[in-house]
Amino acid sequence: MGMFAGTYPTRYQAITIHNIAKQPEWQRLDPEVREGIEVVARVLPFRTNVYVVRELIDWSNIPDDPIFQLTFPQRGMLAPEDFQAMRDLLRRGGSREEVTALANEIRYKLNPHPAGQLTHNVPMMDGQRLWGMQHKYRETVLFFPAQGQTCHAYCTYCFRWAQFVGIDELKFEAKEVDLLVAYLRRHPFVTDLLYTGGDPMIMKARALRRYIEPVLHPDLAHVQTIRIGTKVLSYWPQRFVTDEDADDVLRLFESIVKAGRHLAIMAHFSHPREMATPIVQEAIRRVRETGAEIRMQAPLVRHVNDSPEVWATMWQEGVRLGMIPYYMFVERDTGPKNYFEVPLVEAHEIFRQAFAQVSGLARTVRGPSMSAWPGKVRVLGTAEIRGEKVIVLDFLQGRNPDWNGRPFFAQYDPKATWLDQLRPAFGEEKFFFEKDIEGRSFEWWAVEGTDHPLSVPAHVVA
Ligand SMILES: *Cc1c(COP(=O)(O)O)cnc(C)c1O
Repeated sequence: MGMFAGTYPTRYQAITIHNIAKQPEWQRLDPEVREGIEVVARVLPFRTNVYVVRELIDWSNIPDDPIFQLTFPQRGMLAPEDFQAMRDLLRRGGSREEVTALANEIRYKLNPHPAGQLTHNVPMMDGQRLWGMQHKYRETVLFFPAQGQTCHAYCTYCFRWAQFVGIDELKFEAKEVDLLVAYLRRHPFVTDLLYTGGDPMIMKARALRRYIEPVLHPDLAHVQTIRIGTKVLSYWPQRFVTDEDADDVLRLFESIVKAGRHLAIMAHFSHPREMATPIVQEAIRRVRETGAEIRMQAPLVRHVNDSPEVWATMWQEGVRLGMIPYYMFVERDTGPKNYFEVPLVEAHEIFRQAFAQVSGLARTVRGPSMSAWPGKVRVLGTAEIRGEKVIVLDFLQGRNPDWNGRPFFAQYDPKATWLDQLRPAFGEEKFFFEKDIEGRSFEWWAVEGTDHPLSVPAHVVA
């Protein structure tokens, strides 16, 4: 802790639309850029902090700076007519109710709950919907701790943006760890539990311990991996270094490893600059010292990381620091996606050029991958087969595990940005998995009591 005293802010302070004007950096912004922030922040979530603002953003390069694009709303994120409508309302001093009503109208146009998250992945137990969980793939249960539903800063491209703007019915969160434990007992084929949010690392060590410790009971030994999805290393590495309970968090991590479980920190890193400060490097070192592994993942987004060099540098630097490249995602079809989207063919080309530059240790990364309704679909590349140009894809995760690792083909389309825009190649009517889906919903929560994942045949999931 001593070596960082006085170097970095130690007291977390959120910066939002309500106090941004008090920051010295605000004065440096062009009025046009400021207006963009003020208008868009009425619709989309906006929250950053002193560490991000002082240490990560290069204020001599606005608006192009990638971290500025990552955490500050930009005018291009709304359709021109929506932007104008909100700007005009603010200019004529519209009431709070009017602003909220317009904001909600615009929000509902932005596909606030993509990929059937609300309807298809939420388990049911004893007639009760478990709103704080999702169980889409056989092996892995997602848990949203109630106290972990915010972040140290918000990413402008966040696919869970809807839960941060108070469209209440879109929120999913768990109040009860008892329900989680009961659920895991009844689903012995679940090997991985992923705590997610928001950002679970926003919680105090004491709260985090309350959610994790019960799962370490020998009764739940089938839960071999505890994953924590987080962007804390990027946005507030102080969490593991100078925060009051930093050492308690690290001790909790140690206790997970001592209980014989694998602890995987699923770290969201969007840009190599996020891993460049001495304090984040110290945080990474401390986390790894507990026996945890850190895996890195992020979506590929326009304006933030849409170049092979950025990804190659990030993977190489990450490996040097002892982290494991995991997924490159395709930006989801929600929120300001028009601003951020990169067509699938271009995304693959960026991936390929980055992949070609790095050693095998960085090639543990997989992508670009779309988290779509049927599963995580990877773009493997493009090819020409018997005179037809095609896009080659496969599943990294399917609702039906039997879909994984089977290449399939779509008609070549350089503009397509999401799975639903792709059509099967070779004159087929449907993709293979579409035929398999018919009449089935693949609800893993409905499968209870079977003790080994491989003993749950996919066909039992009606
Ligand atoms: C990505 C994801 C997982 C984890 O998948 P892995 O390929 O094992 O990392 C689990 N559940 C959902 C809903 C996901 O999107």
